[in-house]
Amino acid sequence: MSDPAIDGLPGRIVLDEIVAARAPWDHALRTGQVLRIIDLEGNQAVDFLMYGLTDDAERYSAQDTIAAQRNVFLKAGTVLLSNEGRAMATIVSTTVARHDTIGGACSCESNTLRYGHHTKAQHACVENFLQSNARHGRGKRDMVSNINWFMNVPVEADGALGIVDGISAPGLWVDLRADMDLTAVISNCPQINNPCNGFNPTPVRVVIAG
Ligand SMILES: [Zn+2]
Repeated sequence: MSDPAIDGLPGRIVLDEIVAARAPWDHALRTGQVLRIIDLEGNQAVDFLMYGLTDDAERYSAQDTIAAQRNVFLKAGTVLLSNEGRAMATIVSTTVARHDTIGGACSCESNTLRYGHHTKAQHACVENFLQSNARHGRGKRDMVSNINWFMNVPVEADGALGIVDGISAPGLWVDLRADMDLTAVISNCPQINNPCNGFNPTPVRVVIAG
């Protein structure tokens, strides 16, 4: 039976999984493979990191990516650069107008600062990243600025950031083509104190093809 959610992907499907609400996930992507992330229920922030598969000292760099494309938003055509200035992956297609890479990942510490001490025990993206990265021998010093797929972080005329109601919707997706062998790491954001997940964290679907 055909599945419109995986239309347009190249080659054969090598992985098709659901990432549960609030959960971490990671998987290798080989050069040329495409990772499709599908926002199943809408307005679900998907925090995302990339590390070189053979040398994880090379990893995603938000700073290099923003500087090279002279734009803070990630859109179709954006080349995601490493800290060594090399192309790690390209957004080949997306049904969401733009994605964020300046809002950062939520943590117990930032939750406490922003939303009060009662949020200290809430699960957060940094813990998901640390959990996934620990399986590959990476620790806190390997945490770098991340991508927030589907998250709406507008930049106002005066430079102020907001984390506001999303521009994604059920079934929208982003396609990322690996331009080197890499490990993709996801935190399906557990945040419930701001609108980044519509105050209701939900599952996403990940499909690797090629
Ligand atoms: Zn988060």
